[in-house]
Amino acid sequence: AQVSERETRLASALRDLGVAEGDRVGTLCWNNQAHLEAYLAIPCMGAVLHTLNLRLSPQQLIFTINHAEDRVVIVDASLLPLLAGVFPHLTTVKHVIVVGEGDTSVFGDIATSYEQALAAAVPEFEWPELDELSAAAMCYTTGTTGDPKGVVYSHRSMYLHCFGVWGGLTLSDSDKLLPIVPMFHVNAWGIPYAGWMLGCTLIMPDRFLQPEPLAKLIEAEKPTFLGGVPTIFTGLLQYADTTPIDFSSVRIAVCGGSAVPRSLMESAEQKHGLRIIQAWGMTETSPIGAVALPPRGTPASEEMQWRVKTGRVAAGIELRICGDDGDVLPWDGTAIGEIEARGPWVTGSYYKVDAPERFHDGWLRTGDVGTIDSNGYVQISDRSKDVIKSGGEWISSVELENLLAGHPAVLEAAVIGVPDERWQERPLGCIVLKEGQTADAATLREYLTGKVAKWWLPERWAFLPELPKTSVGKQDKKLLRAMHADGAFTVVELAHSER
Ligand code: AMP
Repeated sequence: AQVSERETRLASALRDLGVAEGDRVGTLCWNNQAHLEAYLAIPCMGAVLHTLNLRLSPQQLIFTINHAEDRVVIVDASLLPLLAGVFPHLTTVKHVIVVGEGDTSVFGDIATSYEQALAAAVPEFEWPELDELSAAAMCYTTGTTGDPKGVVYSHRSMYLHCFGVWGGLTLSDSDKLLPIVPMFHVNAWGIPYAGWMLGCTLIMPDRFLQPEPLAKLIEAEKPTFLGGVPTIFTGLLQYADTTPIDFSSVRIAVCGGSAVPRSLMESAEQKHGLRIIQAWGMTETSPIGAVALPPRGTPASEEMQWRVKTGRVAAGIELRICGDDGDVLPWDGTAIGEIEARGPWVTGSYYKVDAPERFHDGWLRTGDVGTIDSNGYVQISDRSKDVIKSGGEWISSVELENLLAGHPAVLEAAVIGVPDERWQERPLGCIVLKEGQTADAATLREYLTGKVAKWWLPERWAFLPELPKTSVGKQDKKLLRAMHADGAFTVVELAHSER
């Protein structure tokens, strides 16, 4: 009730600032109540919620605000320095609304306090009857190539996506949801909307996403559901190794955004009693596309063989695999190609950008390469731009990375293709070791032996203090390849006798 009243006041305040139907309102906020109020007020008044990714480079942040032509930006006080830094380059922003206290001098008289604006606004708003196909929200992709591309979600697509979230992630009104995935990335997977519609409890971590405060929040608030990317769970479980966390309230921890290693799922379950379920999706698919829940009736001892897959296609989504020549391949678990998607919450275009190469006869080309089996379980082996083709055959970097992550000394692993005179390309294993642990190239190669085809085994290895990440915490393999090309790190090449 409190959020509803404040949401109504926010809509009134925005209208008083001149925000009209169709106008874009940016939010530069963490996962908190004010952001939820903006999630509700902005689309319902007919304006468009544009969640700004606070981890983009300043140039990309400027690009997204100007490209979307945001009229107002709502900003958390903790993020004021970020907005202040890019502000001189913003061409369309007429008002800045600040949640909390902070230095707003750079904005002059266009800055308003969120609380004061809400207090001054009337708690009444005549919510318009909107066309269900009109824009409700937008999110820019975080791709590593070119400018970010805007994906617009309609009221219809977001409403239907909520059904996908409820069913796919098995939510009910007795759930207490803790979205760790940021609200600036694909609407936090739709969890705030789906949870709000169902009447779930929403637990907001704000900006305190480090293992220690998250552990305290989990123990104090007892969520039944967690949603986050693998990096978050890796950090949380590492912390739990030394300071046990009581996860007993958590029924399901949904993990996605990049491949989830089997070792992470196994150690979460065996050591900490945390059941991780993998899911797949992308900004363009709102994002729910596939969820790796095991088929009904699977005995507990056999669950893992399903859960390590990328996911089973969600109800409402259609997937197909296409070969190099565009031919549609069978769902037989073997035929490998680019995965294409369509459905009521899959985008058909990008905002103000023509990108015909991303669509194929009305299907979205996901850029993910993999297989689908006859039960509809997807297994992604690579991003199309990250595939490794050695002697004309594909090597799955995702599979090698997942296996390497299971070695007790390995904290993180990335496998990239590097030029090779004989095979055109060969895999290079890039490894970050756990603190105080050792493992050399020969040991890691030996560890993989027998688990994959012999010709997949990397002979080149590099040990790095950390791996480069994108703005949403995924491995930035493009940067890693560029670092390798620039000789930014040392590569160990095993001699033939050591292979
Ligand atoms: P984004 O639009 O930034 O959310 O990125 C979407 C991309 O993340 C997908 O196209 C996949 O490449 C990757 N991704 C998401 N979930 C998974 C998963 N479970 N396994 C492997 N890759 C994933």
